[in-house]
Amino acid sequence: MNLEDLDKKYILNTYAKKYVNFTKGNNATLFDDKNNNFIDFTAGIGVVSVGHGNETLSKSIYEQASNLIHTSNLYSIEPQIKLAQKISHLAKMDMAMFFANSGAEANEGAIKIARKYGQKNFENKRYKIITLKNSFHGRTITTVKATGQDKFHTKNFSPYPAGFSYDNTIDDIYTSIDNETVAVMIELVQGEGGVLPFAKKDIQELEIFLQKNKILFMVDEVQTGIYRTGEFLASNLYDIKPDIITIAKGLAGGVPIGAVLCKHKNIFEAGDHGSTFGGNYLSTQASSTVLDILVKLKKDGTLDETIVYFTKKLNEIYIKYQNLFLDEVGLGLMLGLRLKDSNILSKIVALCFEKKLLVLRAGENTLRFLPPLTITNDEIDEGFKRLDDVLANI
Ligand SMILES: *Cc1c(COP(=O)(O)O)cnc(C)c1O
Repeated sequence: MNLEDLDKKYILNTYAKKYVNFTKGNNATLFDDKNNNFIDFTAGIGVVSVGHGNETLSKSIYEQASNLIHTSNLYSIEPQIKLAQKISHLAKMDMAMFFANSGAEANEGAIKIARKYGQKNFENKRYKIITLKNSFHGRTITTVKATGQDKFHTKNFSPYPAGFSYDNTIDDIYTSIDNETVAVMIELVQGEGGVLPFAKKDIQELEIFLQKNKILFMVDEVQTGIYRTGEFLASNLYDIKPDIITIAKGLAGGVPIGAVLCKHKNIFEAGDHGSTFGGNYLSTQASSTVLDILVKLKKDGTLDETIVYFTKKLNEIYIKYQNLFLDEVGLGLMLGLRLKDSNILSKIVALCFEKKLLVLRAGENTLRFLPPLTITNDEIDEGFKRLDDVLANI
């Protein structure tokens, strides 16, 4: 049987996928079993932050795996502790954290912290969490309920946990808060919702208001975190210090990991939360190495140069195809081109794949770009050349 038949026979149907057999990668270039090369402007949906086949990362993983992969959280784990210290330092925030295995799990941790905070600190046991209509927070039953987009709340999976409500805009949050609201959870740049950054001033005002009213400010940085927007956290770019921040995607370059960071260090007691795999030797050592690579990339100016170059090339495409595009959006290397006609989005993504360029979609009408942070100018040039070819024929 070929790959497609086997996939259909043995893999549950959850993704509308392309059948291709990638066998090797080199930075932002992927190779299939027929030795075709693809330019990767997706980084595995914002995950492969240091590129495919990164030698420093693979060596670090090999060395760690040769010694220890896993012992469980019943015993302290040195690379986990060192990683937490590194993250807190890079975030410039004094926070303690819990390690999980994905973004959704990190958000589950955040939601549990909020619920316990409400139980502990308020006589009426505040429990409600406000999120935004256009948000995305994950695929577990609770994080899918935290996700504000109606299309995710299908009857198929009901009933969902109670205690979530959704607002259209940041401004609406002020009026929808009631005395049972314990937390507000938002992304600073909505990723899946369509690459929508919020205004810095609005976010800073919200932070001040929430602090005054003792409501937790939870920021989902699963996609925006780990230098995706140019700074270690988008919270650094927005100059805010939320109560809770979640990170995942780019954190270990593809080794599964997530984390919930929290200012309120004494919120949990032993037994409140846990994870078998979370924070084990393999993922935390890999993450430490990824952060070392990215810190260097930021410090020597390479990351900022790459952002400038990618944005310039994107702008050239935007200008050249004014007939197709409404707007260019995003921050850092989390970018999008908004289409005038949402009906051609799927067609563009499919044609790009045929031209061997991997791109993403977001929201209803946004062509999304999340390249590895290590992408070279040559790879950027080649990718945009392929995109230009596709758009010229639309
Ligand atoms: C991807 C994403 C998630 C979910 O992460 P998983 O690792 O797929 O569970 C949650 N929040 C945001 C903002 C994301 O982009």
